[in-house]
Amino acid sequence: MDRRAFLQSVGAITLFAACGKSKGIIPDEVDNTVLFRFALASDVHYGEAETDYINHINTLKSGFKTFQKNNPCSFFVLNGDIIHNDPKFLVPAYEAVRGLHENLYVTQGNHDRVSDEVWKQIWGHDMDFDVSYGDYAFVFGTTSDAVGALACPNLVKLKTLLDKHKQKKHVFIFWHIHPHGSMKCTGVKELLADYPNVCAVFNGHDHNDESIHTVANIPYMFNGRVAGSWGSFDRNFRVVEVTKNTVVTYLMTPHAKKKQTTLNV
Ligand SMILES: [Zn+2]
Repeated sequence: MDRRAFLQSVGAITLFAACGKSKGIIPDEVDNTVLFRFALASDVHYGEAETDYINHINTLKSGFKTFQKNNPCSFFVLNGDIIHNDPKFLVPAYEAVRGLHENLYVTQGNHDRVSDEVWKQIWGHDMDFDVSYGDYAFVFGTTSDAVGALACPNLVKLKTLLDKHKQKKHVFIFWHIHPHGSMKCTGVKELLADYPNVCAVFNGHDHNDESIHTVANIPYMFNGRVAGSWGSFDRNFRVVEVTKNTVVTYLMTPHAKKKQTTLNV
């Protein structure tokens, strides 16, 4: 079965917008071997009144544990709004989620109202930071502050991290808030355009959104929510799988797969 027929047969969507290398070209030979896999979720809102955040965290943990047995992920990201406003929730939230994965990375959301110092003490990394695994780099940034104001990504820090990873095959960026939504951040599109290895951006915050928006050739991927008082019906985590010629992504509900999309890279 050729690639197009295969994708049609599984009802999957293909995008040709990522990473700027082989747009629109369908490779003759399909090699579906997963070279690298990671997962993420967002919007746990630990501590929000009249929500069942403990149950939802436990469901996420058991769903991911089952998934991970046959589909090992190198790390898990919680992309912001881990707590709900009050800094007193940070330690119990950390205790509740740290078992998700031995490599757990987090971004600050507008409800994670703690100082940079406290954040680093708990999570072990800065608000803006990066990690790399072989050919792939991962850049994380805050889009808020200690009082919960919305803040565009820090372009100076972003440029430094993107320059550092200019030679990587793929770069993935994590921001809680979509920079091209209500914030209408200036300069982000222009900066990212200089780095054709930026493959995708991941956003939380919009609890109802489980889709992928392509902005200036870069897919911005949303995943619904884990908890919180409003949002998507399913409490998803998103999986990303890198193969030789594609990046495949889908949501887990957390026990069923949905919305698979393939990026040709
Ligand atoms: Zn939220």
